[in-house]
Amino acid sequence: MNSIIVHYQEIALKGKNRPWFLGRLIRNLKRGLADLDVRSVRGLMGRMEIVLGPGADREEVGNRIRRTFGVANFSYARRTPLDLDLLGTSIIEDLRGRRCKSFRVSARRADKRYPLTSPQIEREIGGRIKAEYGWHVDLEAADLVVHVEMLTNEAFYFFGKERGPGGLPTGTAGRVTCLMSGGIDSPVAAHRMMKRGCAVNFVHFHSYPILSRASQEKARELVRLLTKWQQRSRLYLVAFGEIQQQVLLAVPGPMRVVVYRRLMLRIAERIARNGHSLALVTGDVVGQVASQTLENLAVVGQAATLPLFRPLIGMDKEEITAEAIRLGSYPISIIPDQDCCTLFTPRNPLTRAKLALIEAAEEVLPIDEMVEAAVRDAVMEDFEFPMVGSPIER
Ligand code: ATP
Ligand code: MG
Repeated sequence: MNSIIVHYQEIALKGKNRPWFLGRLIRNLKRGLADLDVRSVRGLMGRMEIVLGPGADREEVGNRIRRTFGVANFSYARRTPLDLDLLGTSIIEDLRGRRCKSFRVSARRADKRYPLTSPQIEREIGGRIKAEYGWHVDLEAADLVVHVEMLTNEAFYFFGKERGPGGLPTGTAGRVTCLMSGGIDSPVAAHRMMKRGCAVNFVHFHSYPILSRASQEKARELVRLLTKWQQRSRLYLVAFGEIQQQVLLAVPGPMRVVVYRRLMLRIAERIARNGHSLALVTGDVVGQVASQTLENLAVVGQAATLPLFRPLIGMDKEEITAEAIRLGSYPISIIPDQDCCTLFTPRNPLTRAKLALIEAAEEVLPIDEMVEAAVRDAVMEDFEFPMVGSPIER
């Protein structure tokens, strides 16, 4: 079986934009598989075919497809001529040696001109399998589902289906910029936006050299992991320590966290606009920490003029943690570091910030210059997965 048949669901619905969505999905699959022995990726009457070369590491190919948003499910498949007799013989050969209690055949015709209906095809192939192996047919809960897909000039068959990640192909929704702390929440927030077709850039604020480099290393590790889902990422590392010292000297203790956050948003927004992002993303959750009361979220959010998305806003910590574990970000996120937000933060932060008071406190700060300097001095790092330099077009 040297083909993989990929099915998509949601993108099939996108009307006139459909060819463009499918083109993106093909491009993303090609990029994601670029360093593996893959001969071609092509669209084929409502599904896609990936043709593997002899050197393809099947498990790794599967891993890559499982990280390609837009894929509903996929299967290792064999292509045959459009000849039911030949198809049956080939299926029987491929099933030899397999142990199985019950099975069913599921047929689909991509081209309705094929003279037999799907139930007729199912009966024909099913009858041959039953005659050869004596397996019991079970239409509801079969051990094994033999899928047959009849196209115009060829047919495919495959056994069972593996779930893909769903979602929309990365890049189809545009670009967003995620504020990535190194904690548990923000990587999960970024991943959720990727799933909806967003390409994600990252901004991390650190307090090096006042604090260690650990938070930057964590941010890099997290971006490296997330890049496996979008192939390319850009991370901006922003030095925040000096800004915090300026705030420390000018702003009363309880207001500082909110002022830090508003500065982070302004800086991230400038970076976002320079990089053509259409929105900002954070891992905020209502009520999780003192800075995340509704009042504080509102006052912090006022600092942004781009749309600000908080995809985890209504989730429990346990739910987010479970998602982080599935994603693989959790072990990186829990590595101890010194978060820049704990620096110069008093024990009694304001929980019900008032916009007017915060704005008054900010008046003594040269906000524009601070933002400009932070953006100018930001360090940009690019990540790529797989490492191929440039996408190989086939
Ligand atoms: P996380 O687990 O994502 O760090 P958290 O529960 O620790 O979230 P906060 O520390 O209050 O919550 O941060 C809320 C959000 O603000 C984060 O999800 C992130 O989007 C942003 N943020 C906080 N600190 C930083 C930072 N150092 N760099 C970039 N973004 C940050
Ligand atoms: Mg945090």
